[in-house]
Amino acid sequence: FPMALQAAIPILEKINAAGFEAYFVGGCVRDTLLDHQIHDVDLATSAYPQEVKMLFPHTADTGIEHGTVTIITDEQNYEITTFRTESGYQDYRRPQHVEFVRSLTEDLKRRDFTINALAMRTDGQVIDLFGGVQDLSQKKIKAVGQAAERFHEDALRMVRAVRFQAQLGFEIESQTKMGIQLNALLLKKIAVERIRDEWLKLMQGRAWQAGLTTMLQTKLYQYCPQLIAEDLNGLLKLPAVKLSSEKQVWTLVCWCLQFSEQRIKTVLKSWKTANDVQKIVLASVNLLNQAEVTAWNLYQASPGVVTNCLAILNLLGKTTLANELQQQYEQLPIKNVRELAVNGRDLMSELKMPAGPQLGQTLLWIQQQVVAQQLVNQKAVIINELKNRYAQRGR
Ligand code: ATP
Ligand code: MG
Repeated sequence: FPMALQAAIPILEKINAAGFEAYFVGGCVRDTLLDHQIHDVDLATSAYPQEVKMLFPHTADTGIEHGTVTIITDEQNYEITTFRTESGYQDYRRPQHVEFVRSLTEDLKRRDFTINALAMRTDGQVIDLFGGVQDLSQKKIKAVGQAAERFHEDALRMVRAVRFQAQLGFEIESQTKMGIQLNALLLKKIAVERIRDEWLKLMQGRAWQAGLTTMLQTKLYQYCPQLIAEDLNGLLKLPAVKLSSEKQVWTLVCWCLQFSEQRIKTVLKSWKTANDVQKIVLASVNLLNQAEVTAWNLYQASPGVVTNCLAILNLLGKTTLANELQQQYEQLPIKNVRELAVNGRDLMSELKMPAGPQLGQTLLWIQQQVVAQQLVNQKAVIINELKNRYAQRGR
């Protein structure tokens, strides 16, 4: 047992002792069997939410309408979800209704792929009703039941299949892949945010290029915002780098495909990317596009942007360039306006400057001079320089 699961055993045992069934389920079982790092520990039980809450002194109703209760312990929190079936799938989206049931079998049946439909007891015994263990060993992503039917219930599962292919380096089993090919257009019904979350996991998978190949083959990409075949083919020509954040994904895509600033904005907006991510990506691509990066370019980029650019350059094997850039950044006399030896109040008191736009312009000029090493970052030096300039101008 990996440590992450070990720690949750007392929780499951307590529920068992009260006469209910309780298991590890989903990704954590899959990743344990694969000997992969576990992200989050999902638990499932035959106990209803109210019954779970009676067993533990500290809980939170995080998703109680879906049957999920968070159990709060001194060490960690655990999400436990009551066995449930889903019904009333409408419009190829997630179901309107969930129904709590006492049967593990029913709960496992509603899950997307055989490798995700495994449950494990506290003694390590695995409950495998759909051949998930064999599919794990054969590296196959296979829908539970009829693929086409399952994709009609929830079209997002098609992108999830490709996401798991990219993360795990597995193949998508032929019926399942055929199901995607035939039903790709159902993805139109799915909210962009849900597609985006899977897309970002796909792009951060080790085998993201295999995932993109499937997107192309099945035409799934046509129903994702702003994805075009030419761009995907461009990405397939890049080295097989392992990306590790949302901003890295977008920076690589936008920079390597030489998107214009306008195109970057359009693409990120259509994927409903958060504003702070958009800003970092735009500034990163802008910095990477500079033929000759000046100290002022680096000063204007935030530390987050510089780190992001260095990561991308290193991933692409441009280590010399990355090292030079890093050194250049570290050697900046100041990294932001707060590090400047004078502020607006100093200018007002020492030079009798009035508040107003001129003050801002002067501060900007000082920063430029200091960053370009034309002016030493010392209060007396800066004030003196400004006094001289005013005196000259006065004559
Ligand atoms: P990760 O390691 O990325 O968290 P995961 O397998 O835990 O992978 P989640 O999205 O966290 O993936 O979902 C948890 C489990 O819930 C899955 O393993 C699967 O059994 C089930 N599941 C999630 N989304 C769906 C879906 N759209 N349709 C059917 N089952 C799903
Ligand atoms: Mg999970």
